Amino acid sequence: MPRPIQARIDLSALRHNYHVARRRLATAPRPAKVWAVVKADAYGHGLPRAATALADVADGFALLELEAAVALRDAGIRQPILLLEGFFEPDDVTVCAQYGLIPCIHRSEQLQMIRAAALPLRLPIYLKLNTGMNRLGFTPAQLPAVHRELAASTAIGALTLMAHFAEADGGRGVDWQLERFAAMRAGWPEDTPVSLANSAAILHHPHTAHDWARPGIMLYGGSPFADISAASLDLKPVMTLHSKIMAVQEIGVGERVGYGGTFAAQRPTRLGIVACGYADGYPRHAPSGTPILVAGRRSATLGRVSMDMLACDLTDLPEAGVDSPVVLWGEGLPADEVAAAAGTVSYELFCALARRVPVVEV
Ligand SMILES: *Cc1c(COP(=O)(O)O)cnc(C)c1O
Repeated sequence: MPRPIQARIDLSALRHNYHVARRRLATAPRPAKVWAVVKADAYGHGLPRAATALADVADGFALLELEAAVALRDAGIRQPILLLEGFFEPDDVTVCAQYGLIPCIHRSEQLQMIRAAALPLRLPIYLKLNTGMNRLGFTPAQLPAVHRELAASTAIGALTLMAHFAEADGGRGVDWQLERFAAMRAGWPEDTPVSLANSAAILHHPHTAHDWARPGIMLYGGSPFADISAASLDLKPVMTLHSKIMAVQEIGVGERVGYGGTFAAQRPTRLGIVACGYADGYPRHAPSGTPILVAGRRSATLGRVSMDMLACDLTDLPEAGVDSPVVLWGEGLPADEVAAAAGTVSYELFCALARRVPVVEV
């Protein structure tokens, strides 16, 4: 018998969420096409299954792992594939050409590598502009050199301008970055395609989508906003992490729970020990009080999360006991809530799902 832990992946929810992104953008005069962002093994959901589930709907797939992009092609994916970090080595340029991968170009050495590769065809690229995220991309001061390199090169095909928002989910919003983008874009023909919007921008600033939007977290049913639930955005959870109660302990007042004894019972307490720990991907930093679902009812974790187990409070759930079903996050308990309690984001919970957790598609 395997441990009772299991991640269930609802592929119809994934397709539903993709259509939510598409619908958000449908009112524009020229609706943006929608990359399905499937980097990091489709945010921990499994790249082959996510790509298969979206194969007949997605306009394209965006990721950043070269081997994974090649695997998509080998699996028969015909749509455009975008490499969000471009390439790292000169040899990768040939792979891009061979497999029809579009690299994001964010520094001039990459343009030189393309020129040096002497490809038999012109390579389409996304040119990344740094509009204030300050992670990747060309600054205004670097653009004259970029224009010179592009003019001198016969190796570059269709060019799309891209940038990435730092605070589309709140804070300063997107206008300040749009202003910088507009100034930088002026050096290219008016009809040059543009790609800017992540999930937060698609949902809150759909006018920024332009030609190609890049939703990630929303496809997996996570909300990009701290204060807006995924359900209210019509997003459905794709991953549900299930387990079971594997043991029950009754402890008296003052007894402590788990490593470090970080939780002390204030009342006679009935503990459920859940077959799930940080080696399964549950965040070790989740404090006592993190929400958890036992037999369909809400409860809270108690004490420190250990490698293979965690404890939760069954005191007010007398009907729960050994073998009661537990949901760590997903259906019935938004990953965003668990993540917030643990001081992180659902992105990190999904991506951290451990290899040892069996996955079933539903
Ligand atoms: C990951 C990523 C996205 C998707 O972001 P979400 O917040 O998950 O929607 C979009 N664009 C780029 C460049 C990315 O790296």
